[in-house]
Amino acid sequence: MARAFIGFGGNIGDTRQIITDAIVCLALRSELQILAKSCFYQSAPLEATGDDYINAVIEIETELTPYGLLHVCQVIEKEFGRERPYSNAPRTLDLDILSFEGVTQNETELMLPHPRMVERSFVLLPLLEIAPDFFLPNLGALKHYLPKVADQKIEKLPCRNCNCGEKAVYSPASH
Ligand code: ADP
Ligand code: MG
Repeated sequence: MARAFIGFGGNIGDTRQIITDAIVCLALRSELQILAKSCFYQSAPLEATGDDYINAVIEIETELTPYGLLHVCQVIEKEFGRERPYSNAPRTLDLDILSFEGVTQNETELMLPHPRMVERSFVLLPLLEIAPDFFLPNLGALKHYLPKVADQKIEKLPCRNCNCGEKAVYSPASH
């Protein structure tokens, strides 16, 4: 069994509902268990156009191989209407494997850890919410990358299942 983190994002349709439903789809699979789920975050598009994105991160434990997990993620993206008309196009649902325990690889089809994860507030904030001390061998503690993304617009959305309260806007001083 390996632990892995998956990042979700989308900006077409009711993304909060789409991500919730996609997590249910994952939870129904016997090859993986969901260990933790972050709150939802709303972020401005980065190197992309269109509406704001909704993002979240989950931690899972799985007996799948990294490529097996990628396949599952891509099947779910497709189920929720994901299309790829051009690079960085608006999307109903994007699932990226952020890290897979014990695996470092640079293959175009599956790069692990995800090469841009520490450059994106919409990955770092939800991931650190569920794994505050998360550490990667080649990158160190991910919390140290927060100041570098402090200029990226992102807002934690209020949710029913945690104590995160009303609209806690990220500022470097509070993390
Ligand atoms: P992006 O997520 O960069 O906006 P896509 O979702 O269209 O773009 O993914 C493009 C390709 O990235 C996929 O075909 C997939 O094989 C590849 N890829 C490489 N590394 C990863 C990863 N860690 N997680 C998910 N997809 C990945
Ligand atoms: Mg993707």
